[in-house]
Amino acid sequence: MYTEETLLPISALQHIIFCERQCALIHIEGIWTENLFTAEGKILHERVDSGGAESRKNIKTAYSVALKSLSLGLTGKADVVEYHKNIGKWIPFPVEYKRGRSKIANCDRVQLCAQAMCLEEMTETVVSEGAIFYAKPRRREGIVFDESLRHETIETAKRLHDLINSGITPLPQYNRRCESCSLVEICMPKRISNRSSVKDYLEKAVNDIGHCAPNPARRYGD
Ligand code: SF4
Repeated sequence: MYTEETLLPISALQHIIFCERQCALIHIEGIWTENLFTAEGKILHERVDSGGAESRKNIKTAYSVALKSLSLGLTGKADVVEYHKNIGKWIPFPVEYKRGRSKIANCDRVQLCAQAMCLEEMTETVVSEGAIFYAKPRRREGIVFDESLRHETIETAKRLHDLINSGITPLPQYNRRCESCSLVEICMPKRISNRSSVKDYLEKAVNDIGHCAPNPARRYGD
């Protein structure tokens, strides 16, 4: 069990799945910049995050729902939680809004599963399904929170806590995802990862510091 003080944002799960360095830059170093993708996502969430609630016959809908799980060590907000009436009980059904289309990587599904597990802990109800609404094809994708997705969510939350507790920002590994990363200008992945190895990079950094340092053998007036 984590404590209130050690809770981390659910949204950081997506960052760590996308890239550990990006996650560390945002959540350890406090760096954030917008690009087209993040700006579009922000606008979409602002539309959904208007708060409030609605009710139809067998579905109640709540917007911008605060979430917390001490067992995962996470806190955040669900865009939408629908409550579906099932044999006299209202079962939570989280819905997350995303820009773009469905991805092969599990980042969106892990984030939604974390929301479901928060809801389970908060309401003591089994939450077995939810959905992700993708803005590009305007399509809702149903997600089942099976054992494998739950396991991945728990492991990702642990990895996130380990990374943040370490306080260390990993060096970059340049690949295709860097092209859509909002932090590419700050991270400089090509410049750093083009060096033959991390060891070479660190050795050069130490040498550079050595050249700048004062020579202890040199005396005033030499
Ligand atoms: S530019 Fe690439 S390596 Fe750097 S933070 Fe972004 S995804 Fe990670």
